[in-house]
Amino acid sequence: MALIVQKYGGTSVGNPERIRNVARRVLETQREGNQVVVVVSAMSGVTDNLIKLSKEVSREPNEREMDVLLATGEQTTIALTAMAINDMGGKGASLTGAQAGISTDGVHTKARIANITPDAVHKLLDDGHVVIIAGFQGQTADGNITTLGRGGSDLTAIAMAAAIKADLCQIFTDVDGVYTCDPRVVKTATKIPELSYDEMLEMASSGSKVMQSRSVEFAKKFGVRFEVRNSMNNNPGTIVKEETPGMESVVVRGVSLERNQAKVTIDDVPDRPGVSAAIFGAIAKANIMIDMIVQNVSFDGLTDISFTLSGADLPKAEAALKEVISTLGEGVELRVQSGIAKCSVVGIGMRSHSGVAAKMFKALADASINIIMISTSEIKVAVIVEESEIEAASRAVHTAFGLDATA
Ligand code: ASP
Ligand code: MG
Repeated sequence: MALIVQKYGGTSVGNPERIRNVARRVLETQREGNQVVVVVSAMSGVTDNLIKLSKEVSREPNEREMDVLLATGEQTTIALTAMAINDMGGKGASLTGAQAGISTDGVHTKARIANITPDAVHKLLDDGHVVIIAGFQGQTADGNITTLGRGGSDLTAIAMAAAIKADLCQIFTDVDGVYTCDPRVVKTATKIPELSYDEMLEMASSGSKVMQSRSVEFAKKFGVRFEVRNSMNNNPGTIVKEETPGMESVVVRGVSLERNQAKVTIDDVPDRPGVSAAIFGAIAKANIMIDMIVQNVSFDGLTDISFTLSGADLPKAEAALKEVISTLGEGVELRVQSGIAKCSVVGIGMRSHSGVAAKMFKALADASINIIMISTSEIKVAVIVEESEIEAASRAVHTAFGLDATA
């Protein structure tokens, strides 16, 4: 008998029929002789709608009340899932995050899990129940409802799996697993059977958003192996786990793309201490996330600094920089470029193989694609290209690293 945690995302519980599909799957797993804990998201679109509603009654909704509101999305799903299970002759019992013993800090709308006391979960399991837990929510020490940040049901599932020492954690979603590239862009992309936590994290931060990054980080920290798979079929999914020696033999595990990026360049800034601190201080103060940063070799005491960010943040960044620019001296100029995108190759095999960047650049050159910017990490090489060329770039790189399906 195994103890299994299954998480079902918003689309997998998106309507009554799909909730019944989940109930069936869960009961099947139980009938095979397992104990099953189910973590569910809000039905797709529900959380967005609740946020919209809050803005219709308030210009700046109070964050404590926001959490009370958002937690109702998942609460609806747990009750409906339990009802469906009971209707099929099974024993289902729902638990809110608080009832499941999930304690968090008090940072409303993006709380962190402090600890989990899963006594109620164990008791219901021992009684033969399927336990259905509301994802994305918890409770502070003084009893306030909290939520864990968008996509937080993944975190609930991983953290619960760690707390109850589950044998298996399955993340059910609307795709078959993690692919070597977005199959809508690269038709020859294939499902990756297994990858390491670090590769999963790099893929996520480079645009392949299958799961919330925080949950993957948590899984890595606590050694929770999990499988990403499709709730609508029985295909095996992708296993995400600790690194094993054989994994490094594959140099590039996947190619990921991120659209709608923008580049900011500040020309002719004085090359002296404090300049970068001032520029990026202003960006940080405006709560803008940046990605690549490049500073040129200086010439005549002047240098250029470029960085990239999400295209959506560009107006905010320009506004934030206007003021600083004027304090940096005469002739300092701000230039921006939108309509660019990022293509990254990811793989832990890069640590032990050379020539990865060269191979990527050659593939792009052969496809006549110009590289605007480059950055690397230990297990990633990323380039910025024109947005109009991102699909061709991804295909060229995917082929160059031998990732195309062979059939
Ligand atoms: N319902 C929440 C959201 O949409 C949490 C989740 O789905 O994981 O962000
Ligand atoms: Mg979701």
